[in-house]
Amino acid sequence: MSVLVYAENTGGLFKKSVYEVVSYAKAIADNLNTTVTAISIGNVEQPALASLGNYGVSRVLNVSGDQLKQFVNQAYASVIAAAANHLGADIVIISNSFSGKGLAPRVAAKLEAGLADGVVELPNIDNGKMTWKKAAFSGKAFAITELLSAKKVIALTPNSFELRETGGHAEIESFQPDIPGGDFASVVRDIVRATDKVTLPDAEIVVSAGRGLKGPENWGIIEELADALGAATACSKPVSDAGWRPHAEHVGQTGIAVSPNLYIAIGISGAIQHLAGVSASKTIVVINKDPEAPFFKVADYGIVGDAFDVVPKLTAAIKAYKGSE
Ligand code: FAD
Repeated sequence: MSVLVYAENTGGLFKKSVYEVVSYAKAIADNLNTTVTAISIGNVEQPALASLGNYGVSRVLNVSGDQLKQFVNQAYASVIAAAANHLGADIVIISNSFSGKGLAPRVAAKLEAGLADGVVELPNIDNGKMTWKKAAFSGKAFAITELLSAKKVIALTPNSFELRETGGHAEIESFQPDIPGGDFASVVRDIVRATDKVTLPDAEIVVSAGRGLKGPENWGIIEELADALGAATACSKPVSDAGWRPHAEHVGQTGIAVSPNLYIAIGISGAIQHLAGVSASKTIVVINKDPEAPFFKVADYGIVGDAFDVVPKLTAAIKAYKGSE
């Protein structure tokens, strides 16, 4: 039994979520008394590839070339499946990131493997039987899932596993599998970023606001707090529906699902459809003037107060703290 992990790069670099997924793969491999091989696709520099060794990867298969410079779902899935077959890997681990959500089912289909996506913990291993805890019903519940297939594809929810440095060393080797021509029927020619700010799915801190802010003219205090924290901004659905904020910021069941280390909800009631998109957050802070607001039930920390009073004070305190560091 061996473990393959997909190391997804962004512009040739690995984000924290890659080291998380690698640490997770290493923990599983240790349990199974085996090693972790990573597959990297696209043009990633040697130092970045070598850095995977520090988190437990012993071997890196590096697939480069102009054709694979931009993410192509079908082709990347073919490469990962080819790597799994090449190694005889039984477990393939992918981050449940935006692109991972498209890749994992494709890889599973190619390998005829069972898939557990949105996994949030290490598996329970008992007498060779492996069960996986995964988010279900838009994060409103967890499903304990057993994969009965010999091969298994796991998509790990970002921010659900800690980084574990091992101080190890990875051997890097070139891997050039055959990719079906049909995989390139649709290709991305260029990526034009809409903003230089941290994007919501990648954000480690999210400052989110709702109808309690009364109108778009009041978002200055939200942006100031987000800037002080280096956070992305988000909002509830009625806020983006009203055009107060862009739709790309709408979080929830019908919007983006986030999984930051810290989610600060300001003037948001905590309707179940909103909570569906934030339940994977590590720590939730709620600021609401109504002590009965449902959001407080899922909050780790709560402040009952008027946002227009609390938020500027919080921003000032964070700036003062950062200034004194
Ligand atoms: P409100 O419910 O109006 O709450 C405003 C909150 O602000 C209140 O708790 C109030 O106490 C507080 N407040 C007011 N003034 C202040 C102040 N000065 N300081 C501090 N607090 C204050 N919603 C989503 O967000 N995401 C979704 O994906 C989503 N999908 C949906 C899908 C369906 C099919 C349906 C039916 C609904 C969906 N909704 C979604 C809507 C959801 O049900 C709620 O209506 C919505 O989340 C409420 O938004 P809100 O909390 O900003 O506004």
